Amino acid sequence: SAQPRHIRELIDRRAKVLGPGYQLFYTNPVEVSRGSGVHLYDPAGNEYLDAYNNVVSLGHCHPAVVEAVTRQLSTLTTNTRYLQEDLLDFSERLLATFPAELDRVTYTCTGSEANDLALRIARAHTGNTGIIVTRNAYHGVTAEVAAFSPSLGPTSPLGPHVRTISAPDPLRHGDVTGMLRSEIRAAIEDLQQHDFGVCALVVDSIFSSDGVQPFPTDLLGVLAAEVRAAGGVYLADEVQAGFGRTGAGWWGFGRHDVVPDLVTLGKPMGNGIPVAATVLRNEIGREFGQKVRYFNTFGGSNVPIAAASAVLDTIEREGLIDNAREIGAQLLSGFTEIVERHPFLVEARGAGLFLGIEVTEPDSTEPDREAAQSLVDDLRENFVLVSASGPHGNVVKIRPPLVFSAADAALLLERFADAAARVRRCA
Ligand code: PMP
Repeated sequence: SAQPRHIRELIDRRAKVLGPGYQLFYTNPVEVSRGSGVHLYDPAGNEYLDAYNNVVSLGHCHPAVVEAVTRQLSTLTTNTRYLQEDLLDFSERLLATFPAELDRVTYTCTGSEANDLALRIARAHTGNTGIIVTRNAYHGVTAEVAAFSPSLGPTSPLGPHVRTISAPDPLRHGDVTGMLRSEIRAAIEDLQQHDFGVCALVVDSIFSSDGVQPFPTDLLGVLAAEVRAAGGVYLADEVQAGFGRTGAGWWGFGRHDVVPDLVTLGKPMGNGIPVAATVLRNEIGREFGQKVRYFNTFGGSNVPIAAASAVLDTIEREGLIDNAREIGAQLLSGFTEIVERHPFLVEARGAGLFLGIEVTEPDSTEPDREAAQSLVDDLRENFVLVSASGPHGNVVKIRPPLVFSAADAALLLERFADAAARVRRCA
């Protein structure tokens, strides 16, 4: 047919002009030309249910963001070196969603920059350089941040000042919190012996690239206490878990009942406009502020702030945190039923609209990456978009826009059940 040739041509043209490192989703890649709400469309007009895009957490092309950005773009676009009330209004509202101790915000454009800045601040504060992350964590693309992003793999080696600990995995380990407490103590001791000292524990609050691990929720408090006792700080990476995704308040760390020293935000913050931030306790930033000037041309500029402000408004006005909790519960119970019917699906887990379904060899906990990929590809052929993650690529990752409705969830479950039945027949 005509489309496969067109698709082949697009793949070919990408290979000729795009720089190294680009990847496509799906064995049969999807061409998209339009998005609206929870749907993406290809040029032929086929409608795909988007159960994966967390950047557009209000849905694709949400009118409130489109309107705010358009208005701002035709009113003023400049940087933070002028007095502007909008920036302060937004910052006050954003900080009000955090525990009172977290009382300062610096804007960047990407989550990577937010983590990069957070680390510089942490280094200035602690005087140490050692960093602890989980074994398959991802925190961003700058050279500094890639050095503590083990999920990038062996071609992007960790820095000598970086130590990893296991991510929680209750399916395979018993006393997860006790186990990780021992591991972090060993990492701290090792960093101290090598004269790095302890600068920061950096953790994605829902362990996204470690395979989506929402439990146990007593874990982050214990790890934060260990790192603080060693003179380090706790940085919560909320780039994926934040802005209501877990359905339990604004921030993923809240589920763990702990207050971080630094928090980084990104992805859904502007519903598609690049805007990110580092939130911190004032006292943590003092040394950095005295020594270093930080200016980010687009960070905190007018259009991103207008987008972020519309996002905050819309999450509140449309009750999207409650929606994430309610629809997330519907999905989790539906996926749990499906898992019970298939020996190669071992667990459905999640918090709000962030779910993982773990695919294994039948009746075991041995990861099965190929079966997970078959599920993802099968769903794509049936116009449902999800992906897979985790250290073994065997966790189907479900992360739809927060506006997902009960009907969208029912359709996703129906298509997933059909795909699972087909994948089992092939096995
Ligand atoms: N932290 C986490 C947890 C992320 O998932 C990502 C992006 N996948 C980043 C940081 C980096 O964000 P960005 O791509 O905006 O630089």
